[in-house]
Amino acid sequence: MALIVQKYGGTSVGDVARIQNVADRVIRSGQNGDRVVVVVSAMSGETDRLIQLAQAVSPNPDPREMDMLLSTGERVTVALLAMALRARGVPARSFTGRQVGILTDMAHTKARIADITPARLHAALAEGVIPIVAGFQGISPNSDVTTLGRGGSDTTAVAIAAALKADLCDIYTDVEGVYTADPNIVPSARKLTKISYEEMLEMASLGARVLQTRSVAFAMRYRVPVRVRSSFNDAEGTWITQEDVQMEQELVSAVTSDKNQAKITLVGVPDRHGIASRIFSAIAQENILVDLILQNVGQGGLTDLSFTVARFEAQRAREALAPAAAEMGVREVVVTDDITKVSVVGVGMRSHAGVAARMFEALAAEGINIRMISTSEIKISCVIDARYTELAVRTLHDAFGLANNKTVSC
Ligand code: ADP
Ligand code: ASP
Ligand code: MG
Repeated sequence: MALIVQKYGGTSVGDVARIQNVADRVIRSGQNGDRVVVVVSAMSGETDRLIQLAQAVSPNPDPREMDMLLSTGERVTVALLAMALRARGVPARSFTGRQVGILTDMAHTKARIADITPARLHAALAEGVIPIVAGFQGISPNSDVTTLGRGGSDTTAVAIAAALKADLCDIYTDVEGVYTADPNIVPSARKLTKISYEEMLEMASLGARVLQTRSVAFAMRYRVPVRVRSSFNDAEGTWITQEDVQMEQELVSAVTSDKNQAKITLVGVPDRHGIASRIFSAIAQENILVDLILQNVGQGGLTDLSFTVARFEAQRAREALAPAAAEMGVREVVVTDDITKVSVVGVGMRSHAGVAARMFEALAAEGINIRMISTSEIKISCVIDARYTELAVRTLHDAFGLANNKTVSC
């Protein structure tokens, strides 16, 4: 008898019919004797709607109040799903994040899970009741509601699976698994049977929103087997597990894109030591993550410094660095948000040269200008103009022969 955590995303609980469908699925999975804990997201579009409401009453909503508001979306779906199950004669009970002991830090709107004390989950399971847990939310040390960042229900599910030592965490979504590229951008994208935690972590952090990055980090740390699959059919899905010898060591496994980026350029920065450290400490103090950094070759004692941050934090980053920039006599600070980061990911890159050259050639052949580049052991990312996103993803998917699993040598 296995213990399975199932997570249903926004589209899967997007309306009453779909909630009924989830109820049927949950019952079916319990029929072979497995015990199930369910985690659900808000109905699709609901979190966006709540964000818009907040912005309609305040240009800069207070993060604590934002979390109070955003956490309501998931309360609706847990209650409805529990009701739907009970209407079918199946004992089920809804829980908020707080009720199942999800303790986070104080970072409102992007809190991290610090600990889980799942006493009520154990009690419900022992009673034979199916727990239905609100994803995306927790409680801070001073008892305020927190949320875990967009897509955070994935992290709730994996963290609960780790805390309960579940056998498996199934992530049900609106696609059949993890693909070689977003199937909504590349129709010929191929579903992967298996992918290592490490590659999935890169893909998630580079924009493949099918799993929230932190959920993959949790799964990797606690060795939780995760499977991504469709809530609309019974196709097998994609397993995310430890890298093993049978796993194909593809040169490139996937192409990703991330439009939620902004580039900040400091124009006319004095070319001397200590400048970068002043700028980036000011930004770090605001808990804003900086991604790619590019410093131009200086001329006449001046240089330009560019870096990328998440788009929603660009304005705060600009404000954070303003005093240091003014003091150092920086000529101008320019924020550009019509950019995208496209990346190729693959563990096979560790042992092959030439991937970067092929990537740059493919983009150049389509007339796509590369504005910034960054590499790591298993990925290469390029910042390009946002209008070329779909073209770039399709071009790279083709260039690395991902549609039909052709091996492309570099
Ligand atoms: P949910 O609401 O179920 O959490 P999300 O919208 O967060 O669903 O994630 C699923 C979406 O992720 C898909 O509809 C797809 O467009 C997108 N996606 C991006 N990259 C990939 C990929 N490589 N494989 C599968 N889906 C991807
Ligand atoms: N409802 C939240 C969001 O839209 C969390 C989630 O769906 O995972 O980001
Ligand atoms: Mg999601």
